[in-house]
Amino acid sequence: MTVTDTSGHPASDAREGSDAPVLAIDIGGTKMAVGAVDPRGEVLAAYRVPTPSGPDADGEALYAALLDAVDHLPYARDAFRAVGVGCGGPMRWPAGEVSPLNIPGWRGFPLRWRLEADFRREVRLHNDAICLAAAEHWQGAGRGTGNMLGMVVSTGVGGGLILGDRLIDGAKGNAGHIGHVVVDQETPCACGGTGCLEAVASGPRMAAWAAAQGWRAEQEGSRTGKDLTEDARAGDGIAQAAFTRAGTALGVAIAGAAALCDLELVTIGGGIVQAGELLFEPLRTALHRHARLDFTRNLKVVPADLGQDAGLVGAAALILRGDAYWSADRAE
Ligand SMILES: [Zn+2]
Repeated sequence: MTVTDTSGHPASDAREGSDAPVLAIDIGGTKMAVGAVDPRGEVLAAYRVPTPSGPDADGEALYAALLDAVDHLPYARDAFRAVGVGCGGPMRWPAGEVSPLNIPGWRGFPLRWRLEADFRREVRLHNDAICLAAAEHWQGAGRGTGNMLGMVVSTGVGGGLILGDRLIDGAKGNAGHIGHVVVDQETPCACGGTGCLEAVASGPRMAAWAAAQGWRAEQEGSRTGKDLTEDARAGDGIAQAAFTRAGTALGVAIAGAAALCDLELVTIGGGIVQAGELLFEPLRTALHRHARLDFTRNLKVVPADLGQDAGLVGAAALILRGDAYWSADRAE
């Protein structure tokens, strides 16, 4: 995927090997983040805006908001050597046509192609959870670990798989999608399946389960994952049971992944990590019960290390560490 400028010369690699920063873009359902990332992976500047929503937030309005955010960075558009993007799924990969579940205005939106046309640089785009896994492996809790699963547990449950120090893509770029690994036989999942980890352990599904048990029965407007964490800390039995249930499901899914992939490490990021031992204690109990083989027994499960810049670092990693995290387009 090389962009050609009007003179017919490839423009995408014009700054390859230079010190010019990478433009990193991290797009989620609630916010869009853009940043300039230097070759060592340091975020030099970042800018965040709420993701437009509502009836006016069509494909073009969303894209215009993204370009406007980039123009708030203290760099000209042609100052970047390339563009790395993490975006909520699903998407056609590596074509980069995105249909994020939480961004209804983009359905089959050709984000990679549009950015290539506007910036005249190489653009690499991957699932946001995969970018977070790459970030943790490159700069975070997974540094020095060759075989890991980087998970995010938030509005959804996602992940990225790294084996032999390389990101594993799978046939369509979805390897590591642990949110839809099956952990029980009955819980209906938004994907149409039954018993998926995400249907038990995502923030909204945890809160919904607790509400169904009678948690905050009169307070429908304040039943978020954060509320659930606060109540569990304060000793609410139903809220604590929701964390035990979610932590157990995470432990079961991680035990399966460990056996399948011979992992050394699992990192967990996302809002749920704030709950600390409320989540990790039942997680470890389930993991120890199910992961009994010699090679799975010592698996480490730790909170993700990188903060709010993790998505930008991971998006930049697609460019800056393409040897490890970008296998598409190799034939070109
Ligand atoms: Zn599912």
